[in-house]
Amino acid sequence: AGVPLKGRVFIIGLGLIGGSLALCIKAEHPKAKIIGYDINKKQTRLAAMLGVVDEVAEEIETGAAEADLILIATPVKKIETMIEQLCHLSLKQGVIISDAGSTKVEIVKKAACLRDKGYTFVGGHPMAGSHKSGVQAAKSILFENAFYLLTPETDTDPEALESLKMWLKGTKARFLQVHPAEHDYLTGVISHFPHVIAASLVHQAERTSRTQSLVTRLAAGGFRDITRIASSSPHMWKDISLHNKDVLLQLFTDWQEEMARVANMLRAENEEALLQYFSRAKQFRDEMP
Ligand code: NAD
Repeated sequence: AGVPLKGRVFIIGLGLIGGSLALCIKAEHPKAKIIGYDINKKQTRLAAMLGVVDEVAEEIETGAAEADLILIATPVKKIETMIEQLCHLSLKQGVIISDAGSTKVEIVKKAACLRDKGYTFVGGHPMAGSHKSGVQAAKSILFENAFYLLTPETDTDPEALESLKMWLKGTKARFLQVHPAEHDYLTGVISHFPHVIAASLVHQAERTSRTQSLVTRLAAGGFRDITRIASSSPHMWKDISLHNKDVLLQLFTDWQEEMARVANMLRAENEEALLQYFSRAKQFRDEMP
């Protein structure tokens, strides 16, 4: 059992993820003071109104100065910008800085400047979300039972890592430690690449709809399931794909090779091979937890 922590938590980026993390921290640590910052004043006003944060900071400097924990939950490219800004500030001794970005290699690389100054930075990625965005969609149960990936370095202070997990206990997520490159490859396979595929399927349907308007009315069940994620924030996904470019390009190549193999099975009307292809996929899919 954990003792409720006191102290100041500064959250940069009060959207779906930043807002939900604020609610989780407040639920577990009611005495903690949660200060929020967002470039979009509508989001900060809403966050204050909804009671997601206790206080709004007008500047990064004022919010960061006395913080015990700083969480960055902006789109991934902006996380780099925020880290750069924090590197130029004088922060509290013992502060822990983490982020919620969907990519890790570039972010952890950028955070070297914080570690050089003696601050603890631990990359983080709560692996739950929604295609909704904005603080109005924030909820404290968002991360329940989800994996929360953390990417500490070999020289990360184990006590600071434990303390970060204590701060985040209210997420009720399952913490896992992975290497940043491993993180980006795995999330590339199970999240970022499928996202591009979902978008491409929607584009294909859109092209068809120009001449056959019936297509959108027929696109029910399966098509809706497989393309649901294409409704997420385009800005967020632009950033994620740029950050994970190398992994995505490799996965495109692998996938094109696989499609070429399937095309060959079809061309040859190879029933046995097609049956195997779908059977193996079904078996692995059915066995997934
Ligand atoms: P969101 O659009 O709901 O929120 C992002 C917030 O960041 C917005 O309020 C925006 O105004 C703010 N912001 C943008 N630039 C800023 C800046 N320069 N300074 C301060 N604030 C700024 O997006 P989200 O879904 O909460 O995603 C936030 C982060 O969490 C992203 O890095 C994303 O990759 C990651 N993430 C998202 C999900 C998901 O499913 N949505 C899941 C896990 C992790």
